[in-house]
Amino acid sequence: MDSVNKGALFVLSAPSGCGKDTVLSFLKERDCNVKQSISVTTRKIREEETDGVDYYFTDVADFEQKIQDGYFLEYVKYGENYYGTPKKKIEELVESGYNVFLKIEVEGAGNVRKIFPDCISIFIVPPSFCALEERLKGRGTETEESLDRRLKIAREELSRAKEYDYIVVNDKLDDCVDDVCAIIKAEHSKYSQMKDFVDNL
Ligand code: 5GP
Repeated sequence: MDSVNKGALFVLSAPSGCGKDTVLSFLKERDCNVKQSISVTTRKIREEETDGVDYYFTDVADFEQKIQDGYFLEYVKYGENYYGTPKKKIEELVESGYNVFLKIEVEGAGNVRKIFPDCISIFIVPPSFCALEERLKGRGTETEESLDRRLKIAREELSRAKEYDYIVVNDKLDDCVDDVCAIIKAEHSKYSQMKDFVDNL
């Protein structure tokens, strides 16, 4: 970690199927000091997922108890399932100087912006809506009903792209990851981030 840099909170959103999980895992392999927040969800675990790595999987009763306990920075009901961002861990990671990435949908992103107005929000979009539909079908995890629901939600989410600081097209994965790295670097070159360093020169 560069001792000059302070931690920063990044919000990464994209309609399901736009590849944000892959983008994030590639990003973590680059030297960008990135840590991903692991959300809690009541959704069923997918075959390729690991509990405690992709999400903390839990049931509705436990999730609702955590809401009562003030455990979440924000949470939403997305489709049939709850998703929530644990508060304490994020604050610790930002304090420790990491670029903390929250991989959340648009409602949650709006809520985080209200709590952390300085957060940097990035919206990943597909090269076309057809490409998104094909990717979701190719995943083979959706029923016809859940596919229709996700595509409808995707349309609504894309209409909220204007709420984000940056838009990145995920056509070629490497280019998309390069773009997100460039955003991280640019954000750390802002005067607000470099003020202490400049003052001490
Ligand atoms: P999926 O079921 O495909 O893993 O996720 C569905 C949506 O929920 C995605 O847009 C994902 O980014 C979002 N999501 C995951 N975790 C959280 C969270 O903690 N808070 C919010 N608001 N959205 C989340």
